[in-house]
Amino acid sequence: MSEVYPQYYSTRDAAKTQVSFEEALLAGLAPDGGLYVPTTVPEVPDADWRDAATFDDLAVNVLGHWLAGEIGAATLANLVRDALDFPVPVVLLGDDVGVLELFHGPTLSFKDFGARTMARLMSHFLARRGERLTILVATSGDTGSAVADGFAGQDNIDVVLLYPKGKVSDVQERQLIVARPGVRAFAVEGSFDDCQRLVKAAFVDPELAHLPLSSANSINIGRLLPQSLYYLWAARSYETAPLICVPSGNLGNLTGGVLASRMGLGVPRFLVAHNANDFFPRYLDARAEAYAFRDTVATLSNAMDVGAPSNFERLDALVGAETMRDELRGSSISDEATRARMAEVYRHEHYLACPHTAVGLEAIARYRQQSGDDRPVLNLATAHPAKFPDAFREALGLEPPTDPALDQLWQQDVAVEPLTPSLDVFREVLLDTVEVSS
Ligand SMILES: *Cc1c(COP(=O)(O)O)cnc(C)c1O
Repeated sequence: MSEVYPQYYSTRDAAKTQVSFEEALLAGLAPDGGLYVPTTVPEVPDADWRDAATFDDLAVNVLGHWLAGEIGAATLANLVRDALDFPVPVVLLGDDVGVLELFHGPTLSFKDFGARTMARLMSHFLARRGERLTILVATSGDTGSAVADGFAGQDNIDVVLLYPKGKVSDVQERQLIVARPGVRAFAVEGSFDDCQRLVKAAFVDPELAHLPLSSANSINIGRLLPQSLYYLWAARSYETAPLICVPSGNLGNLTGGVLASRMGLGVPRFLVAHNANDFFPRYLDARAEAYAFRDTVATLSNAMDVGAPSNFERLDALVGAETMRDELRGSSISDEATRARMAEVYRHEHYLACPHTAVGLEAIARYRQQSGDDRPVLNLATAHPAKFPDAFREALGLEPPTDPALDQLWQQDVAVEPLTPSLDVFREVLLDTVEVSS
């Protein structure tokens, strides 16, 4: 009768001191700078996901196995149904390749799943505590808009978001800087890693220790749990679990998949598709130089431009190096090969794949050719093609698709401020902005 629910410990805490989900969610990064990892992954009975009639039914069932110890069933159900109210279709291409479209949420990328669910969970716990929080978020494109949109107007929560100026597409930038209640956006003169470094530094800065700050990057465990749900949903229609290809940057989406696999899906193999930022594929190949993170390289699939994937540390703590090398196959895809794949899949399947999705499709083609393994594969489509009009002009000589949600952005007011990538400057901003709860 009494189910044991996971607790959480920091990757950097040898003593594995346990905290609740609420605590891990509201903290984001652990106080020692580590990432929270669940003490156990619940086994979810087949009926709870295979037999779910709708995606939100599945989400309510599955998240219950994680969270029911801390949040009432009716509250959880309301909050999850409100967050995940968009379709999650699988489109079949030829040769047993399925595409799981994760871009039908309001900001048109898979980041909506995590951000919207997390915003509502945080707001719930903060209201119960009578506290408020400021969310710091570094984004290479899609996280910021999903977080800004998912958290905007939520009681007790403000958002400060940093993005690398000139390194996101026009549409992505517009999605970031549209004026939203409770959101301040900063264009940082630097790379995504600079943005992420500032955020990480702020969390451990003694002079900011009195401010109620938290994160919404994929370092937050509250984003990872919702990112496990669609793996289970999409795999329902297969008799045995397919291979799954994950276009990856910070490895948060992949970590969600690994959790789903451990909950009972049993994915036989994950293909982990990176662009030219190839730390993880090198690591999986066990090449000696692989152990160093690298500076970020700008690519066509810019939401995956991450030289130092933050979830690596968590994945390592969760499954260990040996299992990673056993179960995961990495690849690194150039921009040229990405464009060629976009053109190929359009010509042969009339399917419009965004550059990130195309990195995955190319990785699948290579894996099959090299391994001879032709089992069914599911590729995650992580963003809507309309977010990357320039890529379509370049790859296909084609005017890109449009989407009403994007078209109406150009009519809205914007609010954005410049920022140099210095902790001293950022500290002043936060000291000026953040309200301390009384
Ligand atoms: C964030 C993002 C990715 C990478 O996901 P990670 O969880 O960082 O590995 C891939 N594609 C798109 C479109 C994204 O927004």
